[in-house]
Amino acid sequence: MTTTHCPYCALQCAMRLEPGPDGRLAARPAPFPTNRGGLCRKGWTSAEVLTVPDRLTRPLMRKDRDSDLVEVDWDTALDHVAERLLALAAESGPDTVSVFGSGGLTNEKSYTLGKFARLALGTSQIDYNGRFCMSSAAAGGMRAFGLDRGMPFPLADVGEAEAVLLAGANPAETMPPMMGHLSAPALLVIDPRRSATAQVALDNGGLHLAPRPGTDLALALGLLHAVRVQGWVDEEFVATRTTGFEAAWEHAAAWWPERTEQVTGVPATRLRAAADVLGAAARNRSAYVLTGRGTEQHAKGTDTVSAWINLSLALGLPGRTGSGYGCITGQGNGQGGREHGQKADQLPGYRRIDDPAARSHVAGVWGVDPDTLPGPGRSAFELLDALGSADGPRAMLLFGSNPAVSAPDSARVLSRLASLDLLVTADFVLSETAAVSDVVLPVAQWAEESGTMTNLEGRVLRRNRAAAPPEGVRTDLQVLSDLAVRLGQPAGRFPTDPDTVLAELGRASAGGSADYSGVTPERLDSGEALYWPVRADSAPTPRLFLDAFAHPDGRARFAAVAHRPPAEATDSDYPLIATTGRLMGHYQSGAQTRRVPELGLAEPEVYVEVHPDTAARAGLTAGAWARVTSRRGHTRARVRLTPTARLDTVFLPFHFAGAQAANNLTNPALDPTSRMPEFKVSAVRLEPEP
Ligand code: SF4
Repeated sequence: MTTTHCPYCALQCAMRLEPGPDGRLAARPAPFPTNRGGLCRKGWTSAEVLTVPDRLTRPLMRKDRDSDLVEVDWDTALDHVAERLLALAAESGPDTVSVFGSGGLTNEKSYTLGKFARLALGTSQIDYNGRFCMSSAAAGGMRAFGLDRGMPFPLADVGEAEAVLLAGANPAETMPPMMGHLSAPALLVIDPRRSATAQVALDNGGLHLAPRPGTDLALALGLLHAVRVQGWVDEEFVATRTTGFEAAWEHAAAWWPERTEQVTGVPATRLRAAADVLGAAARNRSAYVLTGRGTEQHAKGTDTVSAWINLSLALGLPGRTGSGYGCITGQGNGQGGREHGQKADQLPGYRRIDDPAARSHVAGVWGVDPDTLPGPGRSAFELLDALGSADGPRAMLLFGSNPAVSAPDSARVLSRLASLDLLVTADFVLSETAAVSDVVLPVAQWAEESGTMTNLEGRVLRRNRAAAPPEGVRTDLQVLSDLAVRLGQPAGRFPTDPDTVLAELGRASAGGSADYSGVTPERLDSGEALYWPVRADSAPTPRLFLDAFAHPDGRARFAAVAHRPPAEATDSDYPLIATTGRLMGHYQSGAQTRRVPELGLAEPEVYVEVHPDTAARAGLTAGAWARVTSRRGHTRARVRLTPTARLDTVFLPFHFAGAQAANNLTNPALDPTSRMPEFKVSAVRLEPEP
């Protein structure tokens, strides 16, 4: 029996993996502060993914684009990859090789991937799929607080609050055990849909505000307006612990509730009521504002996050016990994955790659000249969109990600992947991206290797190995090490033992804002709650900012943000808004969960959630196949009539592939700061599937 953590989301529920009568592992819940002994159905069935029938155990390779993938041995595959990478780099320079990582990789893998890109390949072209998930919250947090740790407090603190405002998050569906922490007498949910979480709020006397998609920035400004007019601003906090309130207020001043109602559709009376509920709880220092992907996945996501942070600052919530602002991180290692160097602009410890002191420190740990480290590269979608173009990369190495399904505007991304000279994917099954690769490397899964993850609270956890990988399968760390040697790196520069990597990561991150220098296997195994920063000589930091925020003056900063419309408008050809999200039974691109029979049977196909009147106007009935078309492509989806849906909005889950991929529709318009795509608003039309 092995105690470990779930392979999926950032709640990182604890679980025990036990062999069943047939010898296969089964997952059982284990006590831990985030899940308190609960698991969702994904967690319960997670061990089944270890033994899926189409598990890859031999590398695959194709001779050319017109040939099929065939099994080869590891030396053949790795020799070929290294040879091609060296040849392409010699022809077109080091930036012709790119790397794509994941918020699902352990800290050790994220760190090694960044180091591999900068040292073994010498490329600046590395980014990861977390850019699609949490980057707007990260940018908003940095802007306001000078530091980005999604939740700067333990999740259990939220359970004590009188009021919790959840903006753009649906934990009742996406991370159900979290609902145990959302028992506040007043739960206020901001979501265009009557989500499962919104229903819980309504059932318990809370509030659901349903703005038109793409208008939640206006709603946050309207709430700030109401909070000030109704007398709930914490004047002393604003005066002593923040800067920039008046500049932010200049934008909020015009958003009186009736105007906000016109733009968002949220009744002014309900908005005023929400301000009173939140204000009264804040007065008792007992309120939280939490945001999720619904807030972030917009071309103005960073500003929208800032608007919610502004509201929390005006109420005096952050930097105190009993109240605060936090982002609900999504991917399993969405937090740690954005800290240690797989981002285009970053070195370990949440350091900037364009900071000379950071370059010097990390180069010292790596034993190289800082001048040899490349500079910043392209962000995730920009990188994918540049593949095979005149000045873009000609090769990509991809770990733990399936952008053929998860990136916006799937058809465009697939055509860019197809234009590469070399696409190499490390995965455990033939995902949709692996299937179009030139080389596929079969790698171990979460329970077959150890490593650390950083959960949504910024707590570093240890995943424990519960089983050996199948014969023929290697770990990602082994693959990177094997390739590095073939690319001319000294033997031993890329260790394969996760604990050795963790120790090096600790040295590389020491002194950075995400300092892991005190994270050791011994402390992790003892059960110590290691909230970063964790220095060798100090206690962990469960609650940040209690004395000061991380800006040089110690104050949090209001951001002067203005509402603007979504990147594309509806019109007579595309009269509806499509928004996308997650289901309880599936995770991200579905490469894992669609292979679990119980989950696949429960949600076997994509659906489009639509109001009955909207469906009737389109000539659609319950259970029919609809064609949903945007300016980029179309998706075939089963009609699910939902009387609580907005008349102007349809919803599709994004876990399905091919003709059923919601990302056939989505708009890759990017946030100017975080470079996050606008997954949440696409103009579409609805019609019967021909
Ligand atoms: S998917 Fe998330 S909520 Fe569900 S069991 Fe795993 S960690 Fe917990």
